[in-house]
Amino acid sequence: MTRHFDYLSIGAGSGGIASANRAAMRGAKAAVIEAKAVGGTCVNVGCVPKKVMWYGAHVAEAIKYSSAYGFQLEQQGFQWKTLVQNRQAYIERIHGGYQRGFASNGVEFIEGFARFVNANTVEVNGELITADHITIAVGGRPSRPDIPGAELGIDSDGFFALTEQPQKAVVVGAGYIAVEIAGVLHALGSDTHLLIRKDRPLRDFDSDITDALLQRMQQDELQLHTHTNVTKVEQAVDGKLTISCEDGSMLFNVDCLIWGIGREPATDNLNLAAAGVITDKDGFIRTDRYQNTNVKGIYAVGDITGEAQLTPVAIKAGRMLAERLFNPALPDAHMDYSLIPTVVFSHPPIGTLGLTEDEAIDKYGKDGITVYRSSFAAMYNAITPHRAMSTFKLICAGDDEKVIGLHGIGEGMDEVLQGFAVAMKMGATKADFDATVALHPTSAEEFVTLR
Ligand code: FAD
Ligand code: NDP
Repeated sequence: MTRHFDYLSIGAGSGGIASANRAAMRGAKAAVIEAKAVGGTCVNVGCVPKKVMWYGAHVAEAIKYSSAYGFQLEQQGFQWKTLVQNRQAYIERIHGGYQRGFASNGVEFIEGFARFVNANTVEVNGELITADHITIAVGGRPSRPDIPGAELGIDSDGFFALTEQPQKAVVVGAGYIAVEIAGVLHALGSDTHLLIRKDRPLRDFDSDITDALLQRMQQDELQLHTHTNVTKVEQAVDGKLTISCEDGSMLFNVDCLIWGIGREPATDNLNLAAAGVITDKDGFIRTDRYQNTNVKGIYAVGDITGEAQLTPVAIKAGRMLAERLFNPALPDAHMDYSLIPTVVFSHPPIGTLGLTEDEAIDKYGKDGITVYRSSFAAMYNAITPHRAMSTFKLICAGDDEKVIGLHGIGEGMDEVLQGFAVAMKMGATKADFDATVALHPTSAEEFVTLR
């Protein structure tokens, strides 16, 4: 049996779902194939469960400092299981929402693992499916180091599968995932160690922001081990892990080791060769600005393209592609990959957009930029013993002081960034920021009152 579609997405994650729905909304006969769970990484083992855990950590922090607000709370303990159960029930409801969306748009949802047979045919569960347009939206999976005992650790997928709270946790890595997971575990009360290879986490971020993050980690007593490279992991008879590092240091009695060292593309077993689609040396499917691969009629969107690995990027690229293919009014539709805002759900959160100070100096020279920064105690903390500082920063270029970088770490920064991203996308200058009346009392007002 062979079915034929106008448009087919391989992978029902952020990019695949968005593009198939939009294609169907524009009149295409569309289908999406999914090997695991609808929603992909973001909904099942990414943004959504992560943010729920982060909110849980937020509640723990609020309880910790609540006495300054007059609350006399008795610590009754924390039930990891309850948080996980409620999180998973929420994810189930999201799954239902996707299925209702497919039904109302007329998208066919096909469960199974797709492999290319040729450039317009895939095989799923023994069935051949053909399509005029095929989008590869298969995302990625967590990387593991090639060291003895690496398999004794888990990754971010494993973190979300934990049914018990680890007492002693070691998180290895220096990117978004390691910082976010270590922050959650620490705030929820696990004895947490974050191991990084270099001097600081998030090395691509503006150094004022990572300086502030380091200060916060120290103040909050998260155990950060810098210049620490894990070389071996062993398991004792009681199940606990011993972690050996290059500098001779060791960590004992670890009951959960989590690798957060990056993600790799999920293209193996897809039989790309049958379709003639080529990948780069790391396995990513590079595309042009229209999401075209090297094969006509085959496209790629989302993490698999090696572009910014963020859900809104996958969604927008998928929707723009569907518009270009099926909306005659938008023949040039494509994703604009410039100025992508991003938030790290650290403690406190980081928001960043545009160039870091170092990148701005490289591009415009030291004399070509003006930097404005502010460090302040957010009011929320200011009345508690946890008088932690927030750091906000603007980087401007040229005589007209166009804002080319906006960075912040502090309570609320995750929600602050979006509106400023609109302003920067419109080409706002420092004078535009100054001309905007502040919202008081907020942290966000710092961005329009910088001197
Ligand atoms: P995915 O969402 O990974 O979807 C790909 C789908 O394809 C998967 O469901 C997979 O099962 C399926 N698949 C693979 N191969 C096949 C095949 N051969 N046949 C059929 N199906 C197949 N981004 C944010 O913007 N904000 C965040 O806060 C955030 N937090 C994150 C936290 C974590 C722990 C992780 C891991 C990621 C996070 N991300 C976040 C990144 C975000 O999840 C990804 O950028 C996004 O999910 C990418 O979407 P995608 O469609 O490219 O791929
Ligand atoms: P990242 O690529 O962000 O960071 C991984 C880092 O780990 C590397 O940069 C490197 O830093 C370090 N590392 C690499 N290999 C090793 C190793 N063998 N041992 C120790 N450390 C190592 O990957 P993540 O896994 O954190 O996240 C993947 C992507 O998912 C992110 O880039 C982001 O796009 C997305 N994501 C987005 C989130 C959000 O929007 N809030 C949240 C989570 C993920 P160094 O060189 O400094 O050692």
